[in-house]
Amino acid sequence: MLDLWIMRLGHRPSRDKRVTTHVALSARALGAKGILVSTKDGPLETNIRSVVERFGGDFAIETGIDWRRRLMDFEGTVVHLTMYGMHIDDAIPKIPEGPLLVVVGAEKVPAEVYQRADLNVAVGNQPHSEIAAMAIFLDRFTDGEGLRRQMEGKLRIVPNERGKTVVEISR
Ligand code: SAM
Repeated sequence: MLDLWIMRLGHRPSRDKRVTTHVALSARALGAKGILVSTKDGPLETNIRSVVERFGGDFAIETGIDWRRRLMDFEGTVVHLTMYGMHIDDAIPKIPEGPLLVVVGAEKVPAEVYQRADLNVAVGNQPHSEIAAMAIFLDRFTDGEGLRRQMEGKLRIVPNERGKTVVEISR
């Protein structure tokens, strides 16, 4: 598993509940090890941990973090996803091996994030969504491998052309 983390900045629990949940679930499904969320949000943690318990993997979530310290102290490469950055296809080959922290915003992202980032990366230079930007970045960065991983949980979905097949795993 890649040593790849997501940092979600500017999360406003009342307003961004669904979007941040989807950032976290997509991060997990696409190969990240965990998510660090700037604002404390207990229900978000409970929700994501419940998905991890049922569907597996060892995805971690921490909310209410000291994002500045975590960002500045991160020992690895920091990628900040922003429409103002360099094109994703030019940026990916520049990312060295090793721990990676991918930052996505909600509201306006402080200038110090742009300065700390090793790479400010644009998934196209048009405004869209943190979920879309992160998902495209993770899929391209992992060459699709993130989506192919098996996660061991209580429930396993068996791919099906029609209908839904869910198997309960007894251990
Ligand atoms: N208005 C905010 C600002 O000026 O920073 C951005 C809001 S946008 C809805 C939320 C987040 O989505 C951004 O912080 C960025 O991480 C991500 N995002 C949106 N469009 C993007 C793009 N084209 N490329 C990369 N990231 C993008």
